[in-house]
Amino acid sequence: MNNVKHVLNAKTILVTGAGDGIGRVAARHYAEQGATVLLLGRTTNKLESLFDEIVKDGFKEPGIIPMDFATVKASEMQELADVIYEQYGKLDGLLHNAAILGDRVPFESYDMNTWMKVMQVNFSSACLLTRVLLPLCQLAPNSSIVFTSSGVGTTPAAYWGAYSVSKYALEGFAKLLADELENTSKVRINILNPGGTRTKMRAAAFPTEDPSTLRTPEDLMPLYLYLMSNASAEEKGQYFDSSWSASSDK
Ligand code: NDP
Repeated sequence: MNNVKHVLNAKTILVTGAGDGIGRVAARHYAEQGATVLLLGRTTNKLESLFDEIVKDGFKEPGIIPMDFATVKASEMQELADVIYEQYGKLDGLLHNAAILGDRVPFESYDMNTWMKVMQVNFSSACLLTRVLLPLCQLAPNSSIVFTSSGVGTTPAAYWGAYSVSKYALEGFAKLLADELENTSKVRINILNPGGTRTKMRAAAFPTEDPSTLRTPEDLMPLYLYLMSNASAEEKGQYFDSSWSASSDK
């Protein structure tokens, strides 16, 4: 399936945290498959360099959305939704990918300002963004919203602090929304846990680990593509991880 080009033709897909790591590779991959990608992230020059790469290689011109989830206001999110509606008319895909790790210490030592920031970036911003963009997803014939979780989001674990709790909350929100929309909307909601992947976040979480032993973001792209393509139209409220393979696609 991954070899078929233009699977995402005519789709507009927004990726959060598109400047680096898995989000960057996913955004680039969606562009290669024919999508117009909207690159949301906090570091503008990273978004610009990806924009240049995509345009230079002849894919559709992306949109750039500099936005810091730690400080963004609800009104700014609504303005973003208004602009996307004016420029693109609908939203076919939304990959919630941006996140920060926060501290990895016992709860009793956890800095509470960091705790609140992690919850804001990893969880509350994703809820808010979903709230303002859902009406645009409803306008698309076959829209897909994907929430990125983690093993410690599915099963919270000691010393993972707000990161673990934020992902647990995100999974809860995704399940609630999937249930609400299951019989009333064509918008589908799914959860994706990429598992240990060679990125800066993973290196920060496991500083002594040899990165060459890990999957790369590129290795995960068949799954990331599947969840944004019409092939996954019937997947609702499901949990996907790296054990998924194209051959398990029904
Ligand atoms: P990276 O740290 O490599 O990339 C995270 C991206 O999120 C960056 O582009 C970053 O922007 C962006 N981001 C961070 N803070 C904000 C903010 N305040 N506002 C907007 N954007 C922000 O992480 P990964 O690629 O490793 O992780 C991607 C997703 O996968 C995350 O949700 C993570 O929790 C999840 N995951 C990753 C695993 C792994 O092993 N890598 C394992 C399990 C889950 P900037 O470039 O400016 O820093």
